Amino acid sequence: MNEKIYSIDSKKFCEILMNIAECFSANEEYLNWLDGQIGDGDFGTNVGRGFRKIRDLLLQRKDVEQLDIGTILHEAAMQFMQVSGGASGPLIGMMLLEASKTMKGKKMVYVNDFIDMFSSMLRAAKLIGGAEVGDKTIVDVLQPVADEVKKVVEKEKDIDMVKLFELLIQVARMNLEKTISMRARKGRASYLGERSVGKQDPGATAMYLIIRTFYETLNGRKGIKIVEYSKSTGAIIREEYLATTK
Ligand code: ADP
Ligand code: MG
Repeated sequence: MNEKIYSIDSKKFCEILMNIAECFSANEEYLNWLDGQIGDGDFGTNVGRGFRKIRDLLLQRKDVEQLDIGTILHEAAMQFMQVSGGASGPLIGMMLLEASKTMKGKKMVYVNDFIDMFSSMLRAAKLIGGAEVGDKTIVDVLQPVADEVKKVVEKEKDIDMVKLFELLIQVARMNLEKTISMRARKGRASYLGERSVGKQDPGATAMYLIIRTFYETLNGRKGIKIVEYSKSTGAIIREEYLATTK
């Protein structure tokens, strides 16, 4: 039985961001491979570089645990946008920036805060990229996840975070797999037209990994590495836990 968690503080929140950096480093090749199938193969490097810059900042700033979560997310967005390029760089950067506004001045995240946090990230992604569900992008995981958070938390106000993220990783994984049969309508992959059908979207995969890292960190683990995937569709076959050093 997992421990019930109803709130997380700045320290734990930073740990999640650091673990996301770790997760993207561990899965950089996989994400590049996915992007190589339908794009230019730089997605893993891009997103990895962005989150490592965030991690470096968190390690540098000694006062980070005293900062409110809005400030942490704001700083993270600024770092990310400085180094992460491609279509996804500004997109994820703006998602972090919009999320930061919902947490302004708050030193704790409560389950309820995830409603605004996820819906603001979704709004940012849609506003900047113009993608809708079905276009084979980040939105294909983010939209159903944001919807699920709202639905679940409004219905079950005292749900704990571990239970919530357990539901979210299922929704994310199911919708991630749906991107395989989609035809890309945004970004570089859209140039492939019909040939983009049959491959899992790298951006949507990154969203799944982010949600998954939240869940694993809440459970005292670091995250996962995809150790086996389908060489035809890119679908995840086998995952392993990243080693925890603590
Ligand atoms: P590119 O190489 O095409 O400039 P990246 O490799 O950085 O971009 O990112 C590719 C990922 O970005 C895609 O897998 C997709 O999920 C996401 N993406 C691309 N365009 C959009 C968009 N308009 N809205 C949301 N996500 C997008
Ligand atoms: Mg690319």
